[in-house]
Amino acid sequence: MLIKRDQNSIKGYFEDSSNLKGGHADSIVIPENIEELSEFVKKANRDKLPITVSGGGTSTTGSRIPFGGVVVSLEKFNKIIDISTDRMSAVAQSGVLVEDFKNACSEKGLFYASHPTERSAFLGGTISTNASGARSFKYGPTRKQVKRLKMVLPTGLIFEIERGQTILIGKDPVIPLPTYKIPDVKNSAGYFAGEGTDYIDLFIGQEGTLSIITEAELSLSGMPYKIFSSFVFFKDMRDAWSFAAEARRSSALSIEYFDVNALRLLKAKNDNVPPDAKGAIFFEQELTGRDEEPIIDGWLKTIARHNASLDDTWAAMTADETEKFNQFRYAIPEALNDIVRRTGMRRLSTDIAVPEKNLTELMNFYVDTLTACGIDHAVFGHIGECHLHVNLLPKNEMEHRRSKDICMTLIKKGVSLGGTVSAEHGIGKTRREYLEVMYGRQGVVEMARIKKALDPNWILGLDNIFPKEILSMADSA
Ligand SMILES: Cc1cc2nc3c(=O)[nH]c(=O)nc-3n(C[C@H](O)[C@H](O)[C@H](O)COP(=O)(O)OP(=O)(O)OC[C@H]3O[C@@H](n4cnc5c(N)ncnc54)[C@H](O)[C@@H]3O)c2cc1C
Repeated sequence: MLIKRDQNSIKGYFEDSSNLKGGHADSIVIPENIEELSEFVKKANRDKLPITVSGGGTSTTGSRIPFGGVVVSLEKFNKIIDISTDRMSAVAQSGVLVEDFKNACSEKGLFYASHPTERSAFLGGTISTNASGARSFKYGPTRKQVKRLKMVLPTGLIFEIERGQTILIGKDPVIPLPTYKIPDVKNSAGYFAGEGTDYIDLFIGQEGTLSIITEAELSLSGMPYKIFSSFVFFKDMRDAWSFAAEARRSSALSIEYFDVNALRLLKAKNDNVPPDAKGAIFFEQELTGRDEEPIIDGWLKTIARHNASLDDTWAAMTADETEKFNQFRYAIPEALNDIVRRTGMRRLSTDIAVPEKNLTELMNFYVDTLTACGIDHAVFGHIGECHLHVNLLPKNEMEHRRSKDICMTLIKKGVSLGGTVSAEHGIGKTRREYLEVMYGRQGVVEMARIKKALDPNWILGLDNIFPKEILSMADSA
């Protein structure tokens, strides 16, 4: 097991994509195998030494940034163990890059549907945050793909769990299942709860607070025969919204939205973005070969019905062209990160999803609130799942403080419309105050009790999801 202590060489582990400052740890621990990891965690538990788990470090919520203790990095758990066409599943270690995993599956003619925009995330990170992405419109979030997990619990116990398992580890520790209700939308806010909760679901979306995942078995699908994808530009943003509403009834793979400010960022990358576009939709559609003509014809009619010009519509039929469209789409978060690096200020963003019937109300609220505030912003994301990312780009401290208030206003509105405060990026360290808006104090204390049952000394993922005062409330219960 490698232990790195030289602060200069380990400072990269104190950052992620949140731009949260002040991270620090004594050392980085890099175990070679699960036995080493288990021994280390047993000792840390005895010594009450805090551990922050590190995957690819692409979190936008500061969840892999340590504030004390040590970092355990899974970078040596980087083997794909088996890809089975019979079982339509693959077994891989948690430090494998999602991109490498997808490529290895596709070489065997299989498709791993989890498709977060960021390509350098690890499988373990995406399971731990229940990541999703554009294609979760059709395939659901990472949770849907997870069949089995192998992990080390905060006591050091090596533990495997399969989907369908309703008893955890005999009767010890007893896990108090949550009673709070999660909204019926795409959701990555706090621990999963639901009727007849499957215990494996507690460990998906736990943000490194309940276990260290070392291996997973993940479901695969058959490779799509062909993907037709298209960028459709609209002169009125509301036409883009109504197009998306109709597209949601289709069998699309993904349906993504870009507001006028997101399009401005894209124009810097491609001169051909129509100058008068006020909104755009990117969608992907699987084709089987036999159905090509009627499906494409159907899309062309939908485009015309929502007042977009076919002259201003881009289409791709080959895998290379679709990849270029995807790269073009990825340029937005990259452009936002460039702005953050330039200004040195943190980007503030929300990750709200609401039930479909309330989406237009939320979209109108975004437009009114963001236009009135005068702070640079861009809205884009997964409109197919009624889930948009609002990004605020403050230029100074005053704008930063106002942006925080605006985010809270949007959060309260989203929750009042039956939504979630985080549909895919999780809570981490930067969104903890939102969780209480959604579940109330009692709900968050219930979550903390689940953690206490598995992590009696509070060593894992400290500061993620729960503020310290909530932990002490669970302690005194
Ligand atoms: C440009 C950009 C685009 C993005 N697009 C998307 C998107 O489309 N969809 C989406 O869902 N997210 C997106 N994200 C956010 C991010 O990529 C995801 O949250 C991703 O799942 C994080 O994976 P990671 O390996 O980088 O994890 P890290 O950042 O290293 O860690 C994230 C959390 O997981 C925990 N963790 C990591 N590995 C393990 C493990 N093995 N066991 C237990 N806990 C672990 C960490 O402790 C931490 O709490 C984007 C980020 C960026 C910067």
